[in-house]
Amino acid sequence: MTDTISTDQRQPLAAAFDLAPLRTSFAGEVLTTADGERYDDARAVFNAMFDRRPMAIARATCDGDVVAAVLFAQSARIPLAIRAGGHSVAGYSTIDDGLLLDLRPMRRLEVDPDARIVRVGPGVTWGELDAATQQHGLATTGGRMTTTGVAGFVLGSGSGWLERLHGLACDNLVSARVVTADGRVVTASETENPELFWGLRGGGGNFGVVTEFELRLHPVGPTVFGGVLMYPRDRAAHVCRNFRDVMARAPREVVGGVIMMTAPPAPFVPTELHGRPAVSVLMAFLGDPSDGPSALAELREFGAPAVDTTGPLPYEALQALTDPGNPPGRRNYWHSDLFADLPDAAIASFVDRANSASSPASVMILARSGGAVADVPEDATPIGGRLADWFYHCYGIWTDADDQRHISWVKDTAEALRPWTTAGMALNFFTDVDDQRVRSAFGEEKYRRLVELKDRYDPDNVFRRNQNVRPSTGQPDPV
Ligand SMILES: Cc1cc2nc3c(=O)[nH]c(=O)nc-3n(C[C@H](O)[C@H](O)[C@H](O)COP(=O)(O)OP(=O)(O)OC[C@H]3O[C@@H](n4cnc5c(N)ncnc54)[C@H](O)[C@@H]3O)c2cc1C
Repeated sequence: MTDTISTDQRQPLAAAFDLAPLRTSFAGEVLTTADGERYDDARAVFNAMFDRRPMAIARATCDGDVVAAVLFAQSARIPLAIRAGGHSVAGYSTIDDGLLLDLRPMRRLEVDPDARIVRVGPGVTWGELDAATQQHGLATTGGRMTTTGVAGFVLGSGSGWLERLHGLACDNLVSARVVTADGRVVTASETENPELFWGLRGGGGNFGVVTEFELRLHPVGPTVFGGVLMYPRDRAAHVCRNFRDVMARAPREVVGGVIMMTAPPAPFVPTELHGRPAVSVLMAFLGDPSDGPSALAELREFGAPAVDTTGPLPYEALQALTDPGNPPGRRNYWHSDLFADLPDAAIASFVDRANSASSPASVMILARSGGAVADVPEDATPIGGRLADWFYHCYGIWTDADDQRHISWVKDTAEALRPWTTAGMALNFFTDVDDQRVRSAFGEEKYRRLVELKDRYDPDNVFRRNQNVRPSTGQPDPV
């Protein structure tokens, strides 16, 4: 039976195509608007700015499904989007008038504690991975929120609380199984297809669909020492300067960031702070928890915080500390940058911009990187900026309809902080990613190397809903 569908039944047919060839070779379910609520659930992504309606959602269960969807999109000449955890703030993991390849059903998780390796399917989230590896007292650098997908995170470099000790997530990639644009299934590692392996460690989803990641694990937890301090916002400049001075000389086991946020009405927050602008220091000591109090003393003892939750806590709880601050379904516009230097003037500007936030849900974060991130040579992976010790995030988050006001606040913040920044921030932290930003994140030399890889693995730019490295053919993208 011919199965033709439209992108949105409220609108005239933008295009119609026959799904039958996909259905015959695809083991998972293929959803269309006819599937009602199930289709709507499957198309929802983290960032509510991207309320898009794919023509069909193909929910892959195995490598064969991924091959079928990738080949079908090309033969039907329809654009393809890839979804894993659905947390792209740029909206890459959904699409209007195209095929959405949804990898969420591929949730294999296999921990090999002796080899200190985890094999993970692309549908797995960081909360799920941490839960499985922590059963063995192991972990790898992962998201600072549990709901983020492992796949897009690792491919985009992956910054997390463990990075000062164990490097970025992409530095812990041991191998990947990849479905390429021509439907082959290949392995990429240091010894097999090493150039592809290089490109996958920060070059994003440009070269194929990864159907399994093998990640290196390290002894971490299950208990660490850490938590949150909170102060009224008028202490922010002092708190940031103390954080900078302490973290500049802290050992790699001490990790953390300063968060400019609105104090939540939580039981551990004094009522006079509820709903007020506040500044938090989130920190942890990743060594022996009994050494935690002395390792974090200079941070904890600064300026009589209104809240101090620090103490022994499960590593999984540390990983979930920021979850309540940004639930799925809000509108998000993000910009981030690395700091070349962090003088008092940069801190003053950072605080000033946070104080003018257009939405109480928005946050700004100042964090320390360095350590193991900087141990990896710049040309070992596509991602740049490894020598920058500090970075900031500016997350515009809101629920009203005034997008332009909130987006302007983020853009103005980026401009205000530009004098102290340096290139190389991971592209996963931006909502707006144009060609210029992609080039400057990688640098011209590594960008050329990525283009060569793109020419080899995806010359027709089938995988282009991402931080796109365009092939050198110069041809317009196929429909
Ligand atoms: C709430 C939140 C917290 C975050 N915290 C952090 C953080 O602490 N550190 C950090 O570094 N980043 C963080 N990020 C950014 C995050 O790394 C990226 O959004 C990343 O893309 C999320 O991965 P995902 O699988 O959920 O993405 P998805 O939205 O599912 O995918 C995004 C894109 O990645 C590519 N992709 C995904 N899976 C595959 C695959 N298997 N094969 C090929 N290409 C693929 C595709 O181009 C896809 O469109 C956060 C984002 C959010 C929204």
